[in-house]
Amino acid sequence: MNPDTHARALALLRRFYGYDSFRPGQAEIIDAVAAGRDAIALMPTGGGKSLCYQMPALMCDGVCVVVSPLIALMDDQVAALLANGIPAAAVHSNRPDDEVREALEQARLGRVKLLYTSPERFVADLPAWSRSLPIRIVAIDEAHCISQWGHDFRPVYTELAGVKAALPGVPVIALTATADRLTRDDIARQLALRDPFSWTGSFDRPNISIEVAPDPGKARRIARVRELVRKYPDDSGIVYCLSRAKAEAMTAALQACGIRAACYHAGMPAAAREESQRAFINGDVSVVCATVAFGMGIDKSNIRWVVHNNMPANIESYYQEIGRAGRDGLPAEAVMFHSVGDVITLRRFIDDSDSSRRGINTEKLARMQAFVDAAVCRRRMLLSYFNEEKVRDCGNCDVCRSAPLRFDGTVAVQKALSAVVRTDCGVGAYMLCDILRGSLRHDLRLRGYDRIRTFGAGADMSMAEWNYYISQMIQLGLLDVAYDDNNRLRPTPYGMRALRGEERVMLAKYTERTAARSAAKTASSASRSDTDSLLARLKAVRRAEAARIKMPPYLIFSDASLADMARRRPHTLDDFREVQGAGEVKTARFGQMFLDAIRDFERGTLL
Ligand code: ADP
Ligand code: ZN
Repeated sequence: MNPDTHARALALLRRFYGYDSFRPGQAEIIDAVAAGRDAIALMPTGGGKSLCYQMPALMCDGVCVVVSPLIALMDDQVAALLANGIPAAAVHSNRPDDEVREALEQARLGRVKLLYTSPERFVADLPAWSRSLPIRIVAIDEAHCISQWGHDFRPVYTELAGVKAALPGVPVIALTATADRLTRDDIARQLALRDPFSWTGSFDRPNISIEVAPDPGKARRIARVRELVRKYPDDSGIVYCLSRAKAEAMTAALQACGIRAACYHAGMPAAAREESQRAFINGDVSVVCATVAFGMGIDKSNIRWVVHNNMPANIESYYQEIGRAGRDGLPAEAVMFHSVGDVITLRRFIDDSDSSRRGINTEKLARMQAFVDAAVCRRRMLLSYFNEEKVRDCGNCDVCRSAPLRFDGTVAVQKALSAVVRTDCGVGAYMLCDILRGSLRHDLRLRGYDRIRTFGAGADMSMAEWNYYISQMIQLGLLDVAYDDNNRLRPTPYGMRALRGEERVMLAKYTERTAARSAAKTASSASRSDTDSLLARLKAVRRAEAARIKMPPYLIFSDASLADMARRRPHTLDDFREVQGAGEVKTARFGQMFLDAIRDFERGTLL
């Protein structure tokens, strides 16, 4: 970046946003756009795309029009800009006419720097706006929606193709978090961008710790969520469930433990759904139990954890869902539980789906299963899936933390296979577990399975252990699941060889990793440091203020800002300006109340 431009941009960054430096790619993209060049910014969610057009807008004398498909997200962005003292407005179908007129009038005078609008509105009004508004930059958010290759094609986006012709000489910046090259080239071509500056950021989110574990049963899953809620009392999390019924049951179970939880799924009336989302954004509930429908367009920086109660259908969804945690860059946790049952349910979804998608969805599910069963660094595997090379293990996933212990599982495998054969291949995974464990289930006895020789032969292992081993047997190709025949299990030729003792089979050992680690965590949190107690105090101040002025807490200050504040302990407004995220407007508006809280805290600890 040219040194003068850079100095100017940094001063604006400090003044309006309270940040000291740019994230990777931001300076380069801002430089290109400020110099009038088209650009494509490919960055993961949370990478800091908004600044790439907001900063050039602050640096020029006109308006930047931002095209965005999500109304909730537009409103959120406008609120965040206004909170930082940057004039912004949104023009879309949910805004009253007089507000829209006023916004456009302000934009005409160059007093609104960022004008957010929907693609429909933009396409319809572009001929008029190109004459009446001083448009200096056009930003197209979620630009992958223009491409048929993308996963979220929106036909109206293709009408944006005329933007370069309608606004000659105005730089267009396309932004997206979707990774593949095909889509990116398609965006540039369809928008007719001229020699665009292109930036691809890393999709690595090293602050999110990743854990994948065999389903330990409902009680343990709930215990794990309770533990996360206790660990992050001021923040929030999402529990993803595979079905509406399960999302509702989980919500009820958490509420019964005294946790402020809400439910969100596509089967709820729109009003109830919006209420759940609103309560979550405002921090009135700390957990949302949701089906996959939840999270699109939620720009909440203090989601600290995401729990998947079931295995997701593909790696793209999984990565997108865990990516909703830790957008502020602070440590966050992703925990996924999986079981054989999930695979069976997901297979059924695929079988019921449109035939043209079946092949690709089956393939994607297979990749997901491979990820779950892998014994290599999870993050390396995820990034390699997105064609991003990572040469070192991450050190922040369950595999890195404890490489799975392998053991010679031949005997266990033979017990299971033998039971399958003796039932004439008439059982599914759950019944098989029960036979091995010697359960006296009514339907089991009715079918005479309590009289076969392997009945109770695996009573030394828990249900969770058997579940884990049987799913490995399926992954390893020892057992085949007849999805078209009540999910009955059948030994494969490889399985038959193992049964006859011609093959040795190594299995990953089921360990009480989850339980052991949670004990360790509780022990360490007992010695909360001074900084942590101050942070808790600052969060309480933020919460009270948020309730008073009816603003989501994270729009006052993000968790990252409060953490920085607790570390620095400013005593004057001048010190306060050094805090990450404390721009001029926020310092003037909120600085004193946090300074008072810090002073009170220090008095308290001295006494
Ligand atoms: P994206 O649109 O790519 O998902 P955002 O633009 O919403 O990401 O930015 C994500 C978060 O990172 C926001 O809280 C934003 O304020 C913060 N952020 C952006 N740029 C910087 C920076 N240079 N320094 C510190 N924080 C930043
Ligand atoms: Zn790792």
